Amino acid sequence: MSAAAVSPDYLDPIHGWRLWSVVTAGGRSRLQSLVCPSIWWPGRELVATCEASPRDSLRPWRRRLPGHVAPEPRCTCGVHAMERVRHLGTYVPPAASRLVVQRAVGRVALWGDVVEGSRGWRAARGYPAELWLPQADLRRQTVADLEQIAVELADYGVPVHVCDGMSARDVIAELAGGSPRLATYRP
Ligand SMILES: [Zn+2]
Repeated sequence: MSAAAVSPDYLDPIHGWRLWSVVTAGGRSRLQSLVCPSIWWPGRELVATCEASPRDSLRPWRRRLPGHVAPEPRCTCGVHAMERVRHLGTYVPPAASRLVVQRAVGRVALWGDVVEGSRGWRAARGYPAELWLPQADLRRQTVADLEQIAVELADYGVPVHVCDGMSARDVIAELAGGSPRLATYRP
């Protein structure tokens, strides 16, 4: 995502699309960022920070800019989201950890400073707005206890949809097609 400009604070959140890992934290299913270990806690906005990571040491040509507030235009930090759900289809990395029980596809609200890129945004703050939970994992195996996961993710206070018989890629394809065929609603 190329950095373009930092906008002043948005008056209203903008909404993008992203993927989360679903992990067990504090005994409940919780959302976690894919490329860093940040847990998104229910009822609490995620505030982006810029942190050194192994990814950066693998890309020594990407000069790190120490001591800045996220998102910094010349960095890659911030809460990432895509403008179009179909672009998530290129971004389904393999499970990084045994703690990851599932993926969630979702809309996310972004606010605070926002850096606009070619396909989406990096923002200072974010919170999930709506979640879709695939029934199948990346190997198309049915995830055990999906209903319980959905109930626990309802702690975020946003709609959670269970997508029967679908993998994350299927869910993305359905949402990209604008199809309302999806899913059981879980309050
Ligand atoms: Zn940064």
